[in-house]
Formats: sequence, structure tokens, C-alpha cells
Amino acid sequence: MDRFQHYIDGRFEDGAESFASVDPASGAPWALMPLADAGDVDRAVQAAHRAFTSPAWAGMTASARGKLLSRLADLVRAAAPRLAALETRDTGKIIRETSAQIAYVAEYYQYYAGLADKIEGAHLPIDKLDMEVWLRREPVGVVAAIVPWNSQLFLSAVKLGPALAAGCTVVLKASEDGPAPLLEFARLVHEAGFPPGVVNILTGGPEAGRALATHPKVAHIAFTGGPETARHIVRASAENLASTSLELGGKSPFIVFDDADLDSAANAQVSGIFAATGQSCVAGSRLLVQRGVKDALLARLKARAEAVAIGAPDRMETEVGPLCTARQRERILALIARSTAAGARLVTGGQASEGPGFYFPPTILDCSDAPDAPALAEEFFGPVLSVVTFDTEAEALVLANDTEFGLASGVFTRSLTRAHRMIRGIRAGVVWVNTYRAVSPIAPFGGHGLSGHGREGGLAAALDYTTVKTVWLRTSDEPIPDPFVMR
Ligand code: NAD
Repeated sequence: MDRFQHYIDGRFEDGAESFASVDPASGAPWALMPLADAGDVDRAVQAAHRAFTSPAWAGMTASARGKLLSRLADLVRAAAPRLAALETRDTGKIIRETSAQIAYVAEYYQYYAGLADKIEGAHLPIDKLDMEVWLRREPVGVVAAIVPWNSQLFLSAVKLGPALAAGCTVVLKASEDGPAPLLEFARLVHEAGFPPGVVNILTGGPEAGRALATHPKVAHIAFTGGPETARHIVRASAENLASTSLELGGKSPFIVFDDADLDSAANAQVSGIFAATGQSCVAGSRLLVQRGVKDALLARLKARAEAVAIGAPDRMETEVGPLCTARQRERILALIARSTAAGARLVTGGQASEGPGFYFPPTILDCSDAPDAPALAEEFFGPVLSVVTFDTEAEALVLANDTEFGLASGVFTRSLTRAHRMIRGIRAGVVWVNTYRAVSPIAPFGGHGLSGHGREGGLAAALDYTTVKTVWLRTSDEPIPDPFVMR
């Protein structure tokens, strides 16, 4: 079996223990992963804490940090095919998608490379003639980055890129499911020449996560995962009073009006719910469709769902691969069963595929006569689309916002004025109009409510990894007058 190692303080090492990672396409173990315990986590955080003030890192100019990030971007670009193959092997995400996504991950490092020396402070027009007052933007300190198993390289880039650009140091915990691509990525960090301790990468489960999130030397926790784990993270942050950014799940509305281009909407919907086998936080998992076009759209979606090429994730022609874990498949089956019991109607799919591996077919559930079906409220994190019919624009907006989540949304209409009204009315961090699932390092991304808080991507994300230092400098040569009067 292949073996992977942790990366702590600039060295590659085995974990306290190890565990076998399972290939989701076969259900068989294929590689040995290190399993971090609290001691490994502590050594990684101590290394990051030392590195934070070390001359090798703190003494580096922002432009030099940018050059390191740029080198990392080049290395990721060159290694993209290897990293993609590993992510496909360890998580079951199809090679077509991992190849494209990881090549694009390099652009995130490139973007933050350029941003490193543009994080500016400010000079204040202070109301005292003998004072100069300015603001310095300084890195917050050690960042704990905790990511789930889907798109680990991408979800790490949106944390590491801005954190390193700002001058922070990082301990990144890969998910215990499918950690291979991140442990391999550590080799690129090393090759890029980041000083020891600036980036540390390990893997482990809740025990390692807890040790990291509660560590007294952690200043910020950047978390992506489910809302339940996020609650543990926030409780953990009561120990170190670290700030948090939370990128959680969603139940994103995908709204199709009767004037929409139906072929285009159908394609975007297929991408929005069946791509990545539905294991995407922005999955457009609630289709809200206007009554007049419901049958026409559902016919297109059903035909497409049934024609999807399901197969081995490492084949370029495969469109839907296995789910990442058997646990995930059980969850999906249980949620479908509860929803059909509540009156939802299966349009297609719904049964786990036969044979080895954690395959699950594209599934459509019509919940139009089952408004209380749990499928409309809970995240599947799988290729299951729940459909609801609406008549008016006002009704569409009420349905769209009838969720505890607030991550993404899609609106399909040819009416410019209606699009603007929907953009204003939808409560979500992202609104896509006549498109879906588009991302860029330049565009902030994040949600409301159970979808979390904070934004990743863009300039704002880099500022989140800084703190403001206010500097007061007295310009008078006169002695300070009355010591009992505040100046
Ligand atoms: P999860 O919440 O179970 O795990 C996420 C990470 O948290 C893992 O690394 C895990 O080891 C760690 N963890 C578990 N228990 C912990 C604890 N007590 N303390 C600290 N860390 C702990 O999530 P998952 O099931 O692996 O991933 C799926 C979830 O992630 C979905 O809800 C999905 O929507 C969400 N997600 C969100 C985004 C986004 O950007 N908004 C992106 C991808 C996935």
C-alpha cells in the first residue's frame, strides 16, 4: 500500500498512529495515512507559533512572501495532473473535474501572491494637530485551517492563500476521509521554500480537530464542513477566544421561470446537482420551477439524469463517480426514505447502485405535494434534486428564502427587471443569474445562517487574516502638559 506522511515544522514524519484510506470506487483500502493525535497537533501549532515571529518569516517583506506564493502556484500548476489523480483515487471525485479544478487552484495562489504586498494600512486625519495616527495591518497569528473531504485542495487554497499573503502561519488539518492530495501538496509547499513551521499539514479525525481548535496558540480558525461540526468549533473557540470563519453547507434554491432558456437551465441544473456527485456545498439542490415549464424541464432533467455516464472516477468519460464514503451513501438513502414517507415522489433514481464501490445514481424527488418533506430542508450532499412548483414571482421568493441555510442561489429568467428583483430579495451569499457554480479567486464566497459566516476569495478574505494596529506618534517637542488630562 502507498504511505503518506505529515508535514510538521518543515519535516515529513509519520503520525502517532496510522489508518487505511479506502478507495471509494472499489471500497478497498489503498493507502496508509498518518493519524495525528493531540501531541502531533501541539507540535505543529508550536512550530507555527515559533515561525510566526521567526526572522525567516516575520522578517520577510510582503513582496518576498508574494514570490513564495507565486512559486507555489507554479508548482501546483505543474503537479496538477498528479494531484488530480490522487484526489480522484482517494475521494472518488471524477478525474474530469479534479483535473480542471486543481489546475484552477493554482490561480488562487497566484491571485494571493499578487495581493501580498497590496494589503495596505491607512493614515487618519486625526483631530489633534500634534499627532500622527496611522493603522498598520498585521497578520493575526497562527491559523487553524480545518477542511472536509470534498475539494480539499480548493478549500485549502482559499484559506492558505490569503493567510500566507497576510503573513500568518498555518496548521492545516486535512479530513480523515481522502487526505492524500493535501499530504502530497505538502511536498510542493516544501519545494516552494516556505520556512519551516510556516505551513504544517496533518490529518486526523475529531480528536485532532478538537486539539487544534482549542489550542491556546491558535488565533483564528478557518473551518469548512457541516453545521454540527461548526458548533463544536465555535464551542472550542471559547477556550482560546480565536476568531472563526465558517463555510458550511447549503440547501440552495435553483429557480427557473417560464421565460427561461430551458436547455441552458437544464444543463446548469445538471451541473449544479449531479456534478461532483452532488457533494458540493453550493449544490442547487432545491429546484423551484414555474408551473408552466415544470413538465418540460423535468422531462429534460430526467432524460439527462438517466443518460449520465456513471463509472470509474479515473476515466475521462465518466460524469458521475462514487460517493466518498459508505457513510455518506447510508445518509442519503435514509433521507430519501424519510422524504418519500412524507409524500415526495421519486421521478428517477433513489436506489444505491449494485456492486462494489459507493455509487449512487442521479436522483430526482418531486416534493411539490410534500412541502414538509425533509429533502427540502436537509442537505443530502449527494446527487439528489428536490423539486417544488410555484406560480408567481412572490411565491418563488418566499420558497427560495424558506431555508435555514443561505449559501448559493440560481435564477433563470430572460427578464432583466425580474432578475434584479430576485437578486435583491434572495437571502444568500451568492446569486448566479442564468449560470451556476461559477467561481473565481477574485470573487468573495460565503453564506448566512446555517451556511456560516465570513468570506473566502477576493481581497476581503486576506483582510480577515489581519488585525489593525493603531499607532499614535506625538510630533511636538514640548513636554507633555497636564498628566491628569486625557489627550
Ligand atoms: P464535517 O463537518 O464532518 O468535517 C469537516 C472537518 O472537521 C473534517 O476535517 C473533520 O475531521 C473535522 N472535525 C470533525 N469533528 C471535529 C471537531 N469536533 N472539532 C474539530 N474538527 C472536527 O464535514 P464533512 O462531512 O467532511 O463535509 C461535508 C460538509 O462540508 C457539508 O455540510 C458541506 O456542505 C460542507 N462544505 C462547505 C463548503 C463551503 O465552502 N461552504 C465547501 C465544501 C463542503
